[in-house]
Amino acid sequence: TEPLLSIDDLQVHFNTEGGTVEALDGVSLSIGHDEVLGVIGESGCGKSVTALSTMGLLQSPPAEIVGGSITYDGTELLDLSDEELNEIRGDEITMIYQDPMSSLNPVLTIGRQVKEPLLAHRDVSEEAAHERAVEMLESVGLADAERLMTEYPDALSGGMRQRVVIAMALITEPKLLIADEPTTALDVTIQAQIMDLLTDLREEFEMSVLFISHDLAVISEIADRIGVMYAGNVVEQCDMRTLFESPLHPYTRKLAESIPSLEGETDRLPTIEGTVPELIDPPSGCRFAGRCPQYIGEVCDTVEPELETPSRVEGDQKVACHLYDEEREEDPPWPVGPT
Ligand code: SF4
Ligand code: MG
Repeated sequence: TEPLLSIDDLQVHFNTEGGTVEALDGVSLSIGHDEVLGVIGESGCGKSVTALSTMGLLQSPPAEIVGGSITYDGTELLDLSDEELNEIRGDEITMIYQDPMSSLNPVLTIGRQVKEPLLAHRDVSEEAAHERAVEMLESVGLADAERLMTEYPDALSGGMRQRVVIAMALITEPKLLIADEPTTALDVTIQAQIMDLLTDLREEFEMSVLFISHDLAVISEIADRIGVMYAGNVVEQCDMRTLFESPLHPYTRKLAESIPSLEGETDRLPTIEGTVPELIDPPSGCRFAGRCPQYIGEVCDTVEPELETPSRVEGDQKVACHLYDEEREEDPPWPVGPT
């Protein structure tokens, strides 16, 4: 069956005084119905830009979508007018962010804000919207929901605010929820509670989720499949289990070494020598070449590797790395498992 969302070869530039930042260099990702796709990568790798492009929320200028396509449920989102996009956004596709206050208006009551998406997108009475909002607040685990409806965001803790934002994002029963680092700003205990909540709600609402994080442990709690991003590219896409059992890309293999460990670590990306390349005038070959422990020479510097399934791989694992080019297929050592 067709995926619910398909991002194909998406290219986004930021036109800055210093030059053109090639922020997304042909990103391809797909999410099936009722599937959770995790997207992991370091900050600045293009995760949020990918999410914002999908929501039609890129600030343009300076951002410019210069190529590619985003198909949602058979519709090309990049061809829609603002009006058409507004019908989908906040209704069928909703988004939650790292900072709940970026979604909440401090001068409006919680009730008013949680009801809003229903009143905007559905033909419902004020009364029915109120009732549904109370139910939603209860289903995100907030006690005393009737009273909460009359409170202002200031009166709530960070964890409670994020629950309110989740209630707002789900009140229209979206088909796709985009969650961009939804627990990063919260302390560890609250983070775990919000992850449990999202895991439950994902089942209850039978929705697909695009879950963005820099934290593999967090992603592995909820994701069915994962896309690994590096410097504006997706370098590997596979199911969650494959990521730990047989990662292929040298960058993914480093990530997989940092298998979910201790609670309380906030940044579990392992240390990799070197730095991410400048995305103004980026290297023409593989963008990981400057840091790659398995660098194989000129081809890495000159030819951009494409995201594809190597011929000896079964299933739909895809990787963008010259180690798996057909002519190198028989070369030992084909890496198996984390290093
Ligand atoms: Fe490393 Fe070359 Fe593969 Fe890039 S293409 S990840 S530099 S081996
Ligand atoms: Mg980000």
